[in-house]
Amino acid sequence: MNGHPEVARPAEPDGASTGVPSSGPGSWWDLPTRQHLGVLAESVAALAGFEIAIINLRRGDEMEVVAASGPGVPAEMMGNRVPVSSFQADFDVADVWGAWRFVPHDRMPEGLLELSHVPDYVPLEGEDAWHPLDLLAAPIYDDCGVLRAVVSVDVPKDGRRPGPLQLAVLEKYAGVARTAALLALEPEELADRVRMATETRRIVRAALGEPTLDQVLDACRSAVVTCFDAVGMWVSVFHADGDATTAWYARNEGATPMFQEIDDVVIRSAHRYWAEGYVPDFSHGRMDHPHLPKEDAEALLRFLDGIGIGSVLFVPLGVGTECLGFLVLARVSDTPQWTQLEFDAALDIGHDLGLAVANARRLEQERAVVTRLRKLDQYRIELVNTVAHELRNPLTSITANLEFLKEETLSEDGVWSLAAAERGARRMEGVIDDLLTMARVSDPRAPFTPVPVDLRQVVLDVDEECRRTAVAGGVSATTLIPEGDLTVSGRRDELHRMLANLVSNAVKYSDDGGTVTVSLERDRAEVVVRVADEGLGISQEDQENLFREFFRSTNPEALNRPGSGLGLVIVDRIVRRHGGRVEVDSKLGQGTTFMVRLPAATAS
Ligand code: ADP
Repeated sequence: MNGHPEVARPAEPDGASTGVPSSGPGSWWDLPTRQHLGVLAESVAALAGFEIAIINLRRGDEMEVVAASGPGVPAEMMGNRVPVSSFQADFDVADVWGAWRFVPHDRMPEGLLELSHVPDYVPLEGEDAWHPLDLLAAPIYDDCGVLRAVVSVDVPKDGRRPGPLQLAVLEKYAGVARTAALLALEPEELADRVRMATETRRIVRAALGEPTLDQVLDACRSAVVTCFDAVGMWVSVFHADGDATTAWYARNEGATPMFQEIDDVVIRSAHRYWAEGYVPDFSHGRMDHPHLPKEDAEALLRFLDGIGIGSVLFVPLGVGTECLGFLVLARVSDTPQWTQLEFDAALDIGHDLGLAVANARRLEQERAVVTRLRKLDQYRIELVNTVAHELRNPLTSITANLEFLKEETLSEDGVWSLAAAERGARRMEGVIDDLLTMARVSDPRAPFTPVPVDLRQVVLDVDEECRRTAVAGGVSATTLIPEGDLTVSGRRDELHRMLANLVSNAVKYSDDGGTVTVSLERDRAEVVVRVADEGLGISQEDQENLFREFFRSTNPEALNRPGSGLGLVIVDRIVRRHGGRVEVDSKLGQGTTFMVRLPAATAS
């Protein structure tokens, strides 16, 4: 037989193609390679006295027929591919003839017969007669013991199994074929590796978009391990506080090694090798590296032995001059050795992952700042709350005593002083109330259970409440309320307070004869409240600070009017709690319009 599956013709009775691409453009191998191997096959067939010689090269888990010489070999056999495992089955039952393996027809594994091409050939008589189902093939292994090619011969010209002379020629031929096959495989493999390294880098780069380092590693670790033909990898990241954390990823899930045992050695080495742009590999055969103390190298090897790793590639990670961690790619055996291509690719990936670590660090720091600011904010809220409560108690007693004094008969000066004290107490009450309200509406933990609130009603209530003050100041107040649904979702008391602050400001900062207009409008999914006045107006510069706590205008005319600088802060916090926003439009000396946009409770 043409020995074994590499000459396999399709199992279909009509001999049609097996479905895998045959020779020509479908073949993995370029024309010169196939031609070269073709000549080799032809010459061995001739020299060793066989009609047929066939060469298969391995690609992945398959073998492909790249050269077939001899009469009766079907042309479509070229390019046929079969699983490598089929060959293994042959060799398991074979006699060993030097580099060659002989499987007599009566030992041929059942399943393989189906795959095999059997030459149309009538055997001679006698024990050493060649049978059409006999197999004679030489497996070609690389330096690491991996089956990379198979050559086979079939149909001896004398019809007999080869004698010592023929075997000697065949032995030589196996050696030549090995060199030729491995040479043919080399450029293909190199191209493959370059493709893989490029692809892996692309995956690592794409993964850099992930928000955390863990997610970056999740997205690329499998590709990295596969690209480097490693069994696993670990990544250690140095944190700003000097700590290091290590993440382990192995193809076969197993116990995570105790990396802390070796932390000292590897952290020291990472800093050293990042500075030098050096990627060392460690194994029993490779422990001499610049600046690596012997005891460190030995400790590392002991550790690797302990976790069943025979060889590692140690890749420092960093950005600029700063080393931020390291990546270790691990192989069980110290063969194959790491190639130059792998060293280069590893260094590139080290730079990419270094960026990811730097990003993660920055985000970590930003998150820490945000947390600190939140805490500070919380502290301020609590402080304001406490101070306001502490002020309120004595103020209650002051106002109660002022009430008692009213019962007394006082001199004219006494009456005047009492009235002044009452005014002061009322202002103080106002400030305390503002402080408490501000603390409550600023506190994200404060309960907020929204209900439907009709803003029309809120406007009418506030209008009624402020009208007296407006009239007293010679300011006329108008409301413009359209038909239709003006409901928002929120807290009625807060919305009332928000609008009251805006309207009272509008009145307060208007002059005699001015007009304050409060209008409502439905604008698609929002309800818009506008409070417009024709008063003092606000300078552009002041507008930028309006919503800062205790901010009061720089305009002396506005400063003359009483205020705490908390009213607009309360407005802003309430509006934000309701999912809306406040805008201001103002010109100094001409008037101001505050516009509040709130999400409507119902679709328009
Ligand atoms: P205040 O208690 O001082 O009124 P607010 O927080 O309510 O505090 O307002 C902050 C500052 O904004 C005020 O001091 C005032 O200068 C300015 N302001 C607010 N509303 C108006 C307005 N309608 N017209 C002019 N200035 C205003």
